[in-house]
Amino acid sequence: MPELPEVETVRRGLEQKLNNFIIKKVEVCRDSTVAFPSNKEEFIKGLQNSLIYKWDRRGKYLIAQLKEVQNENAQFPLENLQNNGFLVIHLRMTGYFKFIEKSTHPCKHTRIRFFDKNNNELRYVDVRSFGQMWWINKSLSLNKIIKGLGSLGPEPFSKDFDANYLKKVITKRTKSIKAILLDQTIVAGIGNIYADESLYSAGISPFREARTIKKNELIKLKDSIVTVLIKSIGSGGTTFSDFRDLEGENGNFGLQTNVYRRTGKECRKCGNLIERQKITGRSTHWCPKCQK
Ligand SMILES: [Zn+2]
Repeated sequence: MPELPEVETVRRGLEQKLNNFIIKKVEVCRDSTVAFPSNKEEFIKGLQNSLIYKWDRRGKYLIAQLKEVQNENAQFPLENLQNNGFLVIHLRMTGYFKFIEKSTHPCKHTRIRFFDKNNNELRYVDVRSFGQMWWINKSLSLNKIIKGLGSLGPEPFSKDFDANYLKKVITKRTKSIKAILLDQTIVAGIGNIYADESLYSAGISPFREARTIKKNELIKLKDSIVTVLIKSIGSGGTTFSDFRDLEGENGNFGLQTNVYRRTGKECRKCGNLIERQKITGRSTHWCPKCQK
């Protein structure tokens, strides 16, 4: 599943490619991709004549700020346009966007298509179809309608996320530290790859009971999380095998992982073999010698 660095890479791509993209037409190829409003006609109508003004990210959610465009030829500062709510996307397992100048015939995994007046297309493709989209009218609350968004913990890069915060949230938790890192209500955007990589980098065993982790280790863990995520964003978002950027390219050439999917290979620090075991249903990779 795309994690924070992949979603951030997609966000940057969308920001670069979609200059003043005004949605003229929306085609929903698969109804279940539209999570809200429940009536897909309302989704289509709501998005028509919307300028995609700004792309944000929160955890693994992409959030487009929309502006209402009544007259395309009017010349005035875009920020003066009326808000038209938000388009929110969660890519889940296999969702990705493609920007196509002069639209072509869509593949069978195409779920939603957005067109501008010149027939340029922003296409959403999703093989396994777990991805979701919401159009949230400006009078509604994002965080109330999208429960997963409302309950998200702090962003790893925010000042709210530090060793003190971690100490406070884990102090009574008997769950493993790996399970804690995967919990989106504790910290937003970390999934299996970056949980394993951060714990390796901090020298902490993924199986440790969260409450047993000391303050100096939490400082190290926080730094490891931030470093691992920044490095991955810099390389265009991983290693993750199904990930596609806006050109339909696989990001699978940038960052080298240390433990993730390296079961049976030598640890880059000590030469011991990397092991794999499940924690709360997720494959966990670690070096038993380097991580205590
Ligand atoms: Zn090792």
